[in-house]
Amino acid sequence: MSEVVRLAIQKSGRLSEDSIRLIKECSIDFSSSGATLKSQAYNFPIEILYLRDDDIPGYVADGVADIGIIGENVAVEQRKNVDTVDRLGFSRCRLSIGIPKGLDYQGPQTLNGMKIATSYPNILSDFLFEHKIKAYIHEISGSVEIAPSIGLADAVCDIVSSGSTLISNGLKEADVVFRSEAIMIANPLLSEGKKKILDEMLFRIQSVKNAKNTKYILLNAPNESLEKITSLLPGVKSPTVMPLAEEGWSSLHSVVKEDQFWDVIGKLREAGAEGILVIPIEKIIR
Ligand code: ATP
Ligand code: ZN
Repeated sequence: MSEVVRLAIQKSGRLSEDSIRLIKECSIDFSSSGATLKSQAYNFPIEILYLRDDDIPGYVADGVADIGIIGENVAVEQRKNVDTVDRLGFSRCRLSIGIPKGLDYQGPQTLNGMKIATSYPNILSDFLFEHKIKAYIHEISGSVEIAPSIGLADAVCDIVSSGSTLISNGLKEADVVFRSEAIMIANPLLSEGKKKILDEMLFRIQSVKNAKNTKYILLNAPNESLEKITSLLPGVKSPTVMPLAEEGWSSLHSVVKEDQFWDVIGKLREAGAEGILVIPIEKIIR
């Protein structure tokens, strides 16, 4: 492969750390020292460009970068000609309507005639159109949540994760307009060579995603309770069972979802399971 795919990620901000972690989890090594604007991976044909997140969809659409990692909120707002090729599951947030906390919200119609401040005029106008609401959109680029208190707007439409910024500005979250997570976008006209590199990367990302929240479990159990123990473990179809040196005992190995596993741990021990080991899994290739 002589071609190199240029991958744009956010230089510094809420997407950066998880974007870098994802690439490294794909066993792609590169130097990620803060000062550089781009770096070439040592063991995979990609070059990483560090940019402001807002610039990424435009650069990918223009072919300056081939692919990029970006918040879906920004990609959808900008309406650039890019393909969404994967959903990455991190940097989850929502774009919500915030109204003064004393105001009664009775659905989107409450917004009729209001002036709403936002940095997301396109997504907001789709929401208003869908609910047949006539409101005025006041576009501002930052500090949206202070707009009502300084008399600039009646309501806001802004990114929320915990809601604490709204509350500290005397607002409450009234409605969710859009749910976002990080996505991988690509230029729609990649060469065959670049597509192959992208496919290899998406395959690795899938293996990493498959392994998230999944653990390898090993335990020892008396032979007579193996069936019971297998039935207690969620999602386990056919565990590996190996005899222990001690007569009448076996070791059981399997793959389980960690969050489901904790519910049954007590029952497993009641059933005679001992020496339970839970080990992280790095990748699952299906
Ligand atoms: P830049 O300097 O690159 O323009 P920014 O200030 O525009 O950065 P960030 O605040 O770093 O952007 O947010 C980047 C993206 O992270 C947002 O577009 C959104 O998709 C997501 N995001 C924003 N706020 C949160 C949050 N509170 N929790 C999780 N993800 C968030
Ligand atoms: Zn930005």
